[in-house]
Amino acid sequence: ITQLYAPLNFLGFVYREIKHSLADIERMFGLLSTNQEVDDAPAAQQLDTRQASIRFAGVEFGYDSKRTILHGLNFEIPAGSSLAVVGASGAGKSTLSRLLFRFYDVGRGSISINGTDIRQLRQDSLRSHIGIVPQDTVLFNDSIYYNIAYGRPDASREEVMEAARSAHIHDFVLSLPDGYDTQVGERGLKLSGGEKQRVAIARTILKNPPILIFDEATSALDSRTEKAIQQELAAISANRTTLIIAHRLSTIVDADQIIVMEDGRVLERGTHRELIEHGGRYAEMWHLQQEQQAGELAS
Ligand code: ADP
Ligand code: MG
Repeated sequence: ITQLYAPLNFLGFVYREIKHSLADIERMFGLLSTNQEVDDAPAAQQLDTRQASIRFAGVEFGYDSKRTILHGLNFEIPAGSSLAVVGASGAGKSTLSRLLFRFYDVGRGSISINGTDIRQLRQDSLRSHIGIVPQDTVLFNDSIYYNIAYGRPDASREEVMEAARSAHIHDFVLSLPDGYDTQVGERGLKLSGGEKQRVAIARTILKNPPILIFDEATSALDSRTEKAIQQELAAISANRTTLIIAHRLSTIVDADQIIVMEDGRVLERGTHRELIEHGGRYAEMWHLQQEQQAGELAS
């Protein structure tokens, strides 16, 4: 995308619509604030799999040379399994998802899928295999329908609505005067954080990719809606390789593996049970959140 965007600008073509969408995509992932670009390798390969095993090996990364954000991360997400990442804000969790989507290349080490370094894959091919619900969704300046269908442009209207139902946004959309034709984004109806998250979830459900990334994907939802959607997310994650960046620990109890990150390093790793028994940082976070929840219920 960035590859296309620069020459288009450079040549001064004004494909308004196209350029506009590209700008939105870039903003969606906070790319406009950077000049980073990644290029396809000369003999870049297609990725073609429904069973993706992901490996981070000695991954070091910094957005600029002055500050290293990730200090040599190692983990593997076997095909069809889930890895949850937790840790304080600023620990580097979202950076992991940006690297896997290859918005940036690693400084050292490698990220591979089924043994192939993602730098050897065509970007469009890599990205077609990944569905990401980012921390902050920026919608296209277009209809709600377009914003969901973008996940799979050839989907039927029924499929788009089915995805919206699964993401618990369908009834809300129908309550709007223009329904699915409602214009959203900066120049349209402003949706709340939770509504935007549900649009992004619907888009990802529709895309149906073998790799899923949920970056605090339900953090803006009230806990009842979150619970309901969590079941849908669990259902679509089944047998898919899933990276979950979690805010509320109650949503990742069933993850196959959990890692606790601190300052770009892995502090602890294990299953929920193992980490609770270990009695370290994770256990501490868990008990704190349990108390908070009890407090909320009591008030
Ligand atoms: P988390 O998701 O765990 O809260 P992030 O991965 O978003 O953390 O960020 C890790 C660190 O990288 C933070 O200190 C953040 O300020 C920095 N960072 C994130 N994005 C950028 C960027 N585009 N340019 C420079 N620094 C960034
Ligand atoms: Mg984050």
